[in-house]
Amino acid sequence: MDFSLSDKITIIIEMIDEFVENELIPLEREYLTGSYEKLIPVLDEKRNLVKKMELWAPNHPVEYGGMGLDLMDHALVSEALGRSPMGHYVFGCQAPDAGNVEIIHKYGTGKQKEKYLRPLIDGKIRSCFSMTEVDMPGSNPVMLETTAVREGNDYVINGQKWYSTAADGADFSIVMAVTNPDAQQYLRASMIIVPSSTPGFNRVRNIPVMGHEGSGYFSHSEILFQSCRVPVENLLGPEGQGFVIAQDRLGPGRIHHCMRWLGICKRSFDLLCTRANSRVISPDGKTLASKQIIQSWIADSAAEIQAARLMTLHAAWMIEKEGAKTARDDISMIKFTVANTLQHVIDRALQVHGGLGMTDDAILAFFYRHERAARIYDGADEVHKMSVAKRILRSYEGTNRYTFT
Ligand SMILES: Cc1cc2nc3c(=O)[nH]c(=O)nc-3n(C[C@H](O)[C@H](O)[C@H](O)COP(=O)(O)OP(=O)(O)OC[C@H]3O[C@@H](n4cnc5c(N)ncnc54)[C@H](O)[C@@H]3O)c2cc1C
Repeated sequence: MDFSLSDKITIIIEMIDEFVENELIPLEREYLTGSYEKLIPVLDEKRNLVKKMELWAPNHPVEYGGMGLDLMDHALVSEALGRSPMGHYVFGCQAPDAGNVEIIHKYGTGKQKEKYLRPLIDGKIRSCFSMTEVDMPGSNPVMLETTAVREGNDYVINGQKWYSTAADGADFSIVMAVTNPDAQQYLRASMIIVPSSTPGFNRVRNIPVMGHEGSGYFSHSEILFQSCRVPVENLLGPEGQGFVIAQDRLGPGRIHHCMRWLGICKRSFDLLCTRANSRVISPDGKTLASKQIIQSWIADSAAEIQAARLMTLHAAWMIEKEGAKTARDDISMIKFTVANTLQHVIDRALQVHGGLGMTDDAILAFFYRHERAARIYDGADEVHKMSVAKRILRSYEGTNRYTFT
């Protein structure tokens, strides 16, 4: 198996590493302790710089101004950008817009693409994705309660959503709602593009998450849809195909997330090792690095990151070769493996930093509180583990591998 990278992606990653180091990491203090709003003009300048460097929208289609990188190459880009919380945003490949781009590109009408896709990829507007509801389990979305009832040439939407990431300031949301209540459970829901200026699209609040409400792109909203009326032409893809489209959105999206998390692992690991080497902990000049327990954390972290990374790149390769359906176990396995590797590595890095790790003078406390959610969104650990285990067990049904003769 050949693990070498092409010259093209090697150069792209080098350019991104340099950009993250020199242009984004210096902004992090303001990002962590100041107002996100004040940072927006600076981030816009950085975005223009990225466009000039022709590194904008790495994973988006070339005909809409993106670089058109394939999943494997974008996985590596996502890892490099993940080292800073602003990386994906500044390079125009941030969630949830990236997933929305993919599904509008695949299922949108010509009119929807001109109206929503083009400005979205250009970075002129933002979007969000509203599936999860306050009162229903996100882990079992067939139980969705939000409805979109057809009235003439309109859908009238009613329901309460929350955790719509980046809804604050978004131009539209892709809303998952029940359009066919009597259909089989996976054919009941549809995706509908709902401009946030539509009467009845009521963004109630930014939800405080781990003590922070955030604002703008860096926030999660609760939204009440109250007799919110949109034309039928806003339906994305065929009616009743919401779950099929959602699955399309999640396959490559999980690669992007896992590689972003591995970028965070890498950054945390760098900080862990640097601090271990420099923190003197006894009068004879010994540093934390001299302690076996710290060495053990470093070895464990290095091995876990390497294992998680190889699994993720393999899953990306499987999606490209065989499609997301065949790769579904690989996708589930990386989802919970990388999310947990992320928690372990951040936790060890934070611990090595002692009191400093808990402050916003270092980035680790931000990673610690912000990335805990990795084990919950895009399918909680338990849900992925159960679906993988069930399929494995099914493959053993009727077999007897205990014939020790
Ligand atoms: C930071 C963040 C960003 C998000 N962004 C978005 C977004 O942009 N758009 C959007 O629509 N949603 C978003 N979500 C919501 C997310 O998708 C849901 O939180 C997730 O699907 C879980 O649903 P739930 O919160 O209703 O938990 P529940 O479904 O109530 O599950 C709660 C817990 O129960 C356990 N559990 C669930 N099912 C099983 C099972 N079958 N067996 C064993 N244990 C189980 C798991 O531990 C799970 O964490 C976001 C969430 C977070 C935290």
